[in-house]
Amino acid sequence: MNSTMQSHQLTVTSLMTRGARVFAQSEVITWQGEAARHSTYAQVAERAARLANLLTSMGVEPGDRVATLAWNNQEHLEAYLAIPCMGAVLHTLNLRLTPQQLVHIVNDAQDRVVIVDASLVPLLAAIREHLPTVEHVIVVGEGDTTALGEHVAYDDAISGQSSEYAWPEIDELSAAAMCYTTGTTGDPKGVVYSHRAIWLHCFGVWGAFGLDESARLLMIVPMFHVNAWGIPYVAWMLGCTLLLPDRFLQPEPLCAFIKAEQPTFTGGVPTIFTGMLQHAQATGADLSSIKRAICGGSAVPRSLIEAFRDKLGIELIQAWGMTETSPLGCIAFPPAGIDPDEEMAWRSKTGRMVPGVDLRVVAEDGTELPWDGQSVGELEARGPWITGSYYGVEAPERFHDGWLRTGDVGVIDARGYLQITDRSKDVIKSGGEWISSVELENILAAHPAVAEAAVVGVADAKWEERPLAAVVLRAGAEASPEDLRSFLDGKVAKWWLPERWTFVDELPKTSVGKQDKKLLRQQYAEGKFDVREAGKAAR
Ligand code: AMP
Repeated sequence: MNSTMQSHQLTVTSLMTRGARVFAQSEVITWQGEAARHSTYAQVAERAARLANLLTSMGVEPGDRVATLAWNNQEHLEAYLAIPCMGAVLHTLNLRLTPQQLVHIVNDAQDRVVIVDASLVPLLAAIREHLPTVEHVIVVGEGDTTALGEHVAYDDAISGQSSEYAWPEIDELSAAAMCYTTGTTGDPKGVVYSHRAIWLHCFGVWGAFGLDESARLLMIVPMFHVNAWGIPYVAWMLGCTLLLPDRFLQPEPLCAFIKAEQPTFTGGVPTIFTGMLQHAQATGADLSSIKRAICGGSAVPRSLIEAFRDKLGIELIQAWGMTETSPLGCIAFPPAGIDPDEEMAWRSKTGRMVPGVDLRVVAEDGTELPWDGQSVGELEARGPWITGSYYGVEAPERFHDGWLRTGDVGVIDARGYLQITDRSKDVIKSGGEWISSVELENILAAHPAVAEAAVVGVADAKWEERPLAAVVLRAGAEASPEDLRSFLDGKVAKWWLPERWTFVDELPKTSVGKQDKKLLRQQYAEGKFDVREAGKAAR
């Protein structure tokens, strides 16, 4: 029997037209270093229509890729609205990739137009001659563009266009946006988001983050990576005040923006929040307008969640996701009705799977493991906003019976909470047993002398692999390997305690600010570290 419901396509256009009409007076605020630029949703929507007309005049057709190389600002939001709604595909370029990677992904996606921020023109100019598919370049803002060759200026070019655009009917399954993975192994692979996936993900994020029109939403998480967790579309759908920090992402200007514009909600990776915490403690900067912050992208140490609660009065909520999962998969709110003493233990988990996302852990032979909070296996995901393939490449090894193999390793408990213990390529297998680098790092991060720590597996004659801890100490602080070993002692199994320690000024990072453990292992293998020994491997 058929239902009586209308068949209605789930498209970004429906989100866009709703925001423009229902929340015409809501604001988009972009920080400019000293002061903010304010625009209404009505103005942003009008400029998005002008941009769509400009792109049409450049010959952009449905399905064509239009790239952005840009920070979080109003023009980037205009591109987020115009490009998918005209039927083209928004391809956000990660400005921290190497020039070689950028060349690879622009050519792989066959981008026809690039919208570039003036501050990033040198990056594009350096590779421009290697981008044969790019026919037009549009530069946002002021700057020296002489090295770039032919291009148009964004404001000038859109001002000559009509402020009306006949947005087409779009098939919900067609491509709206794409983003490349940032894995440290192999070439980046393209993930293509459909209108439907973005629409459904929006509703998932809305529910999970607990947002409404009153939120003043500071979007720190970059718009060049995984659609900024879908936040631009969720905010627009709900009429939130959107606060965009542009390129001012260091703790000092961020705190100035917070003081000036009083956000109530934010989202970002642990590194950013660690920096903000240290800055606030050192300077007394007032972050108290923020009530809730979502933190993900890598494991969030319990000590950071506690410090945010105790020192700043901010509820820091851990979430998990990846480029391939749009990204929201899990969020770590504690279960209802638990004892307040236990709350932090739940908040420190990776998170509970959100409605719409199915997760499971599987053993090496592919069999599903029980949800007992103990059985460690590779995490697999499926759902309407999880990718089922990669753009233009066969990668059968990344899928398993219709599930995405995430490459993360962890456990799921009876209530659907996930605890990630490692990336599969980073797991440490010592004497046949797994040691969780994530857990060791989280505990080390709570030591008062430690600014940051990474633990990787290195070859060992007896145990095959043993953990090496690479530690960045806080400015002026001191700690010996013995101090740190005894700090870990009692908190993890004895045989997990690393015997190899090295103290470094900084840890290598990937283009999205995650620890680059592959490089760390390589640096160790090349003898680049001064390794200090402490204790013996216990068994
Ligand atoms: P990306 O596709 O660059 O966003 O990276 C996704 C990966 O980041 C995941 O597969 C995880 O390895 C890692 N990640 C994201 N959130 C978390 C989290 N809360 N805890 C641990 N790892 C995380």
